[in-house]
Amino acid sequence: MSWIWLRVLLTAALVLLGGVIGHLFGGGERRELQGALAGIAGGLLVFIVRDIWRGHQLLRWLSGGAIGAEPPRMGGFWGEMATRIERALRSRERSAANERDRLAQFLSAIEASPNGVLLLDASEQIEWCNALAADHLGLDRHRDLRQRVTNLVRAPAFVAMLQARAFEQPVQIPQPDGSGLLSVIVRSYGDGQRLVLTQDITERERADAMRRDFVANVSHEIRTPLTVVAGFVETLTNLPLSEVERKRVLALMAQQTQRMQSLVGDLLTLARLEGSPRPSSDAWLPLARLGSAVEMDARGLSAGRHRLSFDWGDEVELAGNEAELLSAVTNLVSNAVRYTPESGQIEVHWRQRPEGAGEITVRDTGPGIAAEHLPRLTERFYRVDGSRSRDTGGTGLGLAIVKHVAQRHGGELLIDSTPGQGSCFTLVLPAMRVRLPAGRVAVSQP
Ligand code: ADP
Repeated sequence: MSWIWLRVLLTAALVLLGGVIGHLFGGGERRELQGALAGIAGGLLVFIVRDIWRGHQLLRWLSGGAIGAEPPRMGGFWGEMATRIERALRSRERSAANERDRLAQFLSAIEASPNGVLLLDASEQIEWCNALAADHLGLDRHRDLRQRVTNLVRAPAFVAMLQARAFEQPVQIPQPDGSGLLSVIVRSYGDGQRLVLTQDITERERADAMRRDFVANVSHEIRTPLTVVAGFVETLTNLPLSEVERKRVLALMAQQTQRMQSLVGDLLTLARLEGSPRPSSDAWLPLARLGSAVEMDARGLSAGRHRLSFDWGDEVELAGNEAELLSAVTNLVSNAVRYTPESGQIEVHWRQRPEGAGEITVRDTGPGIAAEHLPRLTERFYRVDGSRSRDTGGTGLGLAIVKHVAQRHGGELLIDSTPGQGSCFTLVLPAMRVRLPAGRVAVSQP
């Protein structure tokens, strides 16, 4: 309140001073009174002019943006007023800056969301969207602001959902560039505004479709031999068969049972491969040991019908899971034996590449495979010739297992084949999984 007293004192002092001066210089009795009144009026005038000038300075400061510039330095009432206005403006500016910071943080949190986020106003015009939503819906974040969303995103399911205001269930729409599938959820908020969330579900849908196909394939593969066995059981139960016929039926039943066993065995192998950690890279096994097990299997399966040759290199050691590697190489060799006609040639050999990686190659002189099948051979249940595969005891899972094992060991499966000229399957293992026993030096082959 100091400015009030100051102001009262100043006014009184000016008026008094004016009065005294007027009285002293007035001369004569009546003139003294007039002089005093004129002095008082003069004092008041000085006070008013000073007031107007200070008010003007304050207004000039306020209309010049106030916040950036220093307030005019004045004492008394106007000074107090300037200080208070400045304080109020600064505090408002601080809270506005805080609000802006919070909004920026909030928007950057939405920006980091794994979902696309789009805000629509009550007339379904785009108010804001994050980069992911723009990417999902093919929008331009800046150019498309204030545009009606249904003019830009024309997927019928999305448009119908907005029109019907049926926001309970998400809808699935294709991405505008046709590259994938989106799930779109819409929620209402505020005063008729809408929040649109988009999620790329292409991979999820693909995985779901694969799982459905896989289950359908497995069911089909198991149902076929099961139907055959059930038919034979019925035959054995209802028909009087001769000993020879009975033996034939039992042999066929055994064959179908074996087929189911192989299938279940391969399915379990795949499940184990998918569910277990990567094979350790410091558990070493001699390739020769793996080779002799493969060789024994191959000779048993071929039963002398093919010319087989094996070359397992020179005391090489491999790092990895022995059962997995054995299963991979056995699958390749057993394919070669099963698909190569009698008296054909099958060669299995080891080679170390100059940079240290190792290759186990299985080459046959079988029928070969047409180029269009090659990229799909490692898909589960993919067969070039279904009946040939099944007749020879194939499950359609062999190469899928080999590819999986190769990848788990950091390697790959290469396939090269020409119809009529045979096939060549190569299991490649990275250099870190190949070594020679201490003291031996690798001799790489071209
Ligand atoms: P399958 O159990 O049917 O042999 P695989 O996954 O091992 O299944 O092989 C997939 C398909 O690749 C086979 O059905 C067959 O048509 C073809 N295939 C695999 N190996 C050979 C080969 N050595 N020669 C010719 N075709 C082959």
